[in-house]
Amino acid sequence: MVNRGTTQQSSAPYNRRIVLDVIRRHGTISRKEIVEKVSLSPQTVANITNDLESIGLIVARRITGAKSPGQPPIAFVLNPDGGSSIGISLEPGRASAALVNLVGDIQARKEVMVDTHDRRQVLACMLELVKDLLRRPTAPGRLWGVGVALPGPLVKTDISFVGPTALEGWTDLSVLDDLRDATRLQVFYSVDSVAGALGESLFGVAKTLDTFFYMHFGVGLGGTLVVNRSAYRGTNGNATEIGHIPVVPGGIACYCGNAGCLERYLSLHSLAEALGVEDVRDRGADITLQLTQNSNEALQSWCRQAADRLRDAVCIIENMLDPRTIVIGGSAPKALVERLVALAHPLLRSVRGGVALPEERILLSERQEDSSILGAAVLPIYDMLSPRVEVLQQERRAESDVADLMGQRSASRVGRL
Ligand SMILES: [Zn+2]
Repeated sequence: MVNRGTTQQSSAPYNRRIVLDVIRRHGTISRKEIVEKVSLSPQTVANITNDLESIGLIVARRITGAKSPGQPPIAFVLNPDGGSSIGISLEPGRASAALVNLVGDIQARKEVMVDTHDRRQVLACMLELVKDLLRRPTAPGRLWGVGVALPGPLVKTDISFVGPTALEGWTDLSVLDDLRDATRLQVFYSVDSVAGALGESLFGVAKTLDTFFYMHFGVGLGGTLVVNRSAYRGTNGNATEIGHIPVVPGGIACYCGNAGCLERYLSLHSLAEALGVEDVRDRGADITLQLTQNSNEALQSWCRQAADRLRDAVCIIENMLDPRTIVIGGSAPKALVERLVALAHPLLRSVRGGVALPEERILLSERQEDSSILGAAVLPIYDMLSPRVEVLQQERRAESDVADLMGQRSASRVGRL
């Protein structure tokens, strides 16, 4: 589905986003093609592309090799150097960060181990990561902000901040206010699965999909439903916390207080337990090799059981939500996810069976291990790059800086997406 422009009052920021979105989705597109897709007049589209060019979000290129006589036509592309943002992914025991440009390329990346129980250490570590990334020669001038992705739920509930797959012992997110104050940058945050989903929506395998389910397979297991390219949040922002859906009656006890939760079988924490190690995240290369050689029986056995649970999860998600596809991302090694998906086939019968081809029901993130960081980095720019009707409700102001031209809400404090 392509969003169409509107002629109502105060619609300029919205129309600019529509045009920017069409350019992002197509990669390269001519003005004439934009006019056809967004149903705005050629003059309006010309004004908009001029505006977008003047603020550096797009660049014009001559299309070479065109058959038409005269001047070669002009095409527009997103300007990779139109800005950048920093994404920080917090997982139990580890913080990873990257500097990402406007087209989703990771320009610099860094990862450190940190005791995430100690929030002062986490703050010091995030500050160091931000400083380090900004010192890199690749760091461009315009920084949109810092996005932080962390395991949910983030609102105080029965199952928040408990267990080894969460940021255990945290009671609130005031550390993010401290990060904003210390860096003087805008800080956005989100549950890791929401960030990952938005990352796939902007730059990943879900780039052309409006509705899909994102499964976040990291230390724990989470999920996010994307509807019309917005994450469905639920009443308190805790929707689709699939890791704690009980799937095995009388199964393994879970730190949430229930038993048989999906995450107890399908997560990197569950794999670490099965292998008798503290953490598997630094063993990605070993796991990949052992999977190729079929050389580790404990690993094989865990994979068979985890694949059974994945097959159940896919059926539950499909029958509940009827998503176009299920995208799997997160910090799990790609080879591991590929093996689980292969073992989960044939999938169970569901409302997607017979409609979608088996290979269309599950897609793997192309960024796999980087999908969390990319998702975090998307948080400061998602609001600008994704046309949503809420923008129509914002007033247009006289100043012509980027935020105003794009109808971006002001975010002087920490913003949650
Ligand atoms: Zn649980």
